[in-house]
Amino acid sequence: MRNVNSLLKDVENRLKANEISEPALNAEWIVSKVCGLERLQLRLSGCEGISEETAKKAMDMALMRIKHVPLSYIFGEHNFRGFSLEINRGVFVPRPETEELIDIFLKCARKNGKMRILDFGTGSGAIAILLAAEIKEAEIIAVDKSVLSIRCAERNVKKHGFSERVKVQRGESPEELGIRFDFIISNPPYIPSPDIEGLDAEVRMEPRVALDGGKDGLKVVRKLLRSLPFVLRKGGMFFCEIGENQVEGVKRVFLESEVPGRIEFYRDCNMKWRFFSVKFYG
Ligand code: SAM
Ligand code: GLN
Repeated sequence: MRNVNSLLKDVENRLKANEISEPALNAEWIVSKVCGLERLQLRLSGCEGISEETAKKAMDMALMRIKHVPLSYIFGEHNFRGFSLEINRGVFVPRPETEELIDIFLKCARKNGKMRILDFGTGSGAIAILLAAEIKEAEIIAVDKSVLSIRCAERNVKKHGFSERVKVQRGESPEELGIRFDFIISNPPYIPSPDIEGLDAEVRMEPRVALDGGKDGLKVVRKLLRSLPFVLRKGGMFFCEIGENQVEGVKRVFLESEVPGRIEFYRDCNMKWRFFSVKFYG
């Protein structure tokens, strides 16, 4: 009879034979998922028996992984800083760097008192949910142009009990909401269109609308910057994630937008310049 260890080896070998990167780690995620174990518990449970049904589930998942389907789509779930988020193929998989964007927000923004926050391009609702958990009096509007994302974000907001304070709605520009915010945060699509083809197969499985930032990657960033005078309160702030080579482009777009305010850039944990904020003087 198979046990946890032999299943781990089988899945790993299958992934390795198909040149999937990090086969051992992927095998651990898959086997821990089908066995309902924490990944770190696996090695302690190595000799436990596995039913044929469980083994088949794991091998089916391995087959999907071989087709480059990201693990979060295979599991239908993604853990974003302790929050289990439902994810499906029409929705962007949240990235660790976006946790860093949220940390920058939390460092710079006040955390007390009433405030209104816009999460523009909410996807699964990841940013809105984390902020709702951290800032108890925040009222958050989570907007996305993709209907699939809106539906997914709504389910995630409800699942975590934030429906009272997080409103999810479809939209394509901040101005159309007709209100002003204390803070705006966004992880917009920022990959230049010509670069999309060269992305990993896994990333190309994600919705194009979540990745494609137009010719120079800054289409949505430009739109957001131009909107600031109409949607931020005086003294309000905008926080945004960008690609690692986009600082000069963003500076240019900021100057062109003539927004009265101060721009600041921040590095990620790999020392790459990946975020910026704008304080709006009004
Ligand atoms: N905030 C989520 C996260 O960090 O996981 C999703 C980020 S994903 C990179 C960008 C999101 O912006 C996608 O969900 C996409 O549908 C949405 N989007 C793209 N262009 C948009 C636009 N013009 N208006 C509103 N949403 C847009
Ligand atoms: N960070 C994503 C990637 O690695 C891109 C996300 C985006 O465009 N916002 O592909």
